[in-house]
Amino acid sequence: MSESIKYLLQEQDIPTHWYNLVADLPEPPAPVLHPGTGQPVTPDDLAPLFPMAVIMQEVSQDREIEIPEPVREALAQWRPSPLCRARRLERALDTPARIYYKYEGVSPAGSHKPNTAIAQAFYNKQEGVKRITTETGAGQWGSALALAGSFFGLEIEVYMVKVSFDQKPYRRAFMETFGATCVASPSDQTESGRAILKEHPNSNGSLGIAISEAVEMAAKRDDTKYALGSVLNHVLLHQTIIGQEALRQFEMADDYPDMVIGCTGGGSNFAGIAFPFIGRKLRGEQDIEVVAVEPANCPSLTKGKYAYDFGDTAHLTPLAKMYTLGSTFVPPGFHAGGLRYHGMAPLVSQLTALNQIAPRAYKQAECFDAGVEFAKAEGIIPAPEANHAVKAAIDEAVRCKETGASKAILFNLCGHGHFDMQAYTDYFAGKLYDQEYDESEVAMALAGLPSVATG
Ligand SMILES: *Cc1c(COP(=O)(O)O)cnc(C)c1O
Repeated sequence: MSESIKYLLQEQDIPTHWYNLVADLPEPPAPVLHPGTGQPVTPDDLAPLFPMAVIMQEVSQDREIEIPEPVREALAQWRPSPLCRARRLERALDTPARIYYKYEGVSPAGSHKPNTAIAQAFYNKQEGVKRITTETGAGQWGSALALAGSFFGLEIEVYMVKVSFDQKPYRRAFMETFGATCVASPSDQTESGRAILKEHPNSNGSLGIAISEAVEMAAKRDDTKYALGSVLNHVLLHQTIIGQEALRQFEMADDYPDMVIGCTGGGSNFAGIAFPFIGRKLRGEQDIEVVAVEPANCPSLTKGKYAYDFGDTAHLTPLAKMYTLGSTFVPPGFHAGGLRYHGMAPLVSQLTALNQIAPRAYKQAECFDAGVEFAKAEGIIPAPEANHAVKAAIDEAVRCKETGASKAILFNLCGHGHFDMQAYTDYFAGKLYDQEYDESEVAMALAGLPSVATG
């Protein structure tokens, strides 16, 4: 038997519907509030920013939402993605655990992000939009939207967090190859950007700031809308294709995970793999342990507050109830750029508050230890973000060795690290410091949370 086992589905096995977790929640999600009035937002409030089809998905209660055929066709370029059994890693760890990973690095952008970029580009095109603005942290989302824009004939403008813009020139070149424009954020092209630069001329930027810039630009022009790569319900919805495929692949494997693990920045890859399994648990069909892994430097789920907050720094976005470190918190510039967000998806937050998810935080150096161990065994270099999930999976497998438990562990290998080799270079040079985040800054950001009359 070969060393690595892959469970491969055919093109016709790409799910026909996305899975909407909202249908199975014990209580409805807290409403999203208008930043000006404090009242629940209406679809019309969101219309300047998003196409109506996407807004209706954002508020849908239907369990299943059909995936349009052109979206399935575009996804078929790399989907279904493989589910792999990590036999060499199991052997290296000498563990009785069965370790599986769903590999999303097979997409053209190298991560799970195109799963929603393709869908969002399709709906924008269908509604006559010409141009989409967005933000990107590590560059993965910008790359995914640039790709989707070129598939569907849309102009894409990307505000890229400054620290990543400087660290990852190849990501910028990637986006430009697909015809997108890439701007370092904070920039002098928007009011939000200029306001930040005035106070902090050397700002590293943050996702919160870049979102403000992209939203501001989209709101200014009629032919332009905005797209978000994580956090919102519709983005999580589009990612559920990952977990649905995994369910079928576990049938092929004649196995079922005892634990599912994902890293969490805004929560979308985690939700993508976990929600279909959590849905089965909520419906009483099959139990599962669910672990969300975040960076110790930006620990929204483990150290944040579950409260209404803004999605961005300049407070242009609606208010959502979520675990947050405060919208003005700027995390230190560590390498898992995709995990540097102050908040967490409302649906992931709600599940965490309901004790359906066990969150944990790791420091970056120990995550790279795990990523390198995984790479040596399995031949895939994970993205720095994905290393957080790898670390949790390895920890669990080692615990299985100690206790003799034979668990099946599934984690989402949400992207490869081929554009992140500078991070690995720094790691090998011993230059990956675990810079602590400033607790007083979090306290200050949390003290500034908007006061909202709930009831
Ligand atoms: C964007 C990104 C993340 C973080 O975003 P989520 O919405 O939490 O998934 C994690 N890993 C990779 C590879 C990413 O590109």
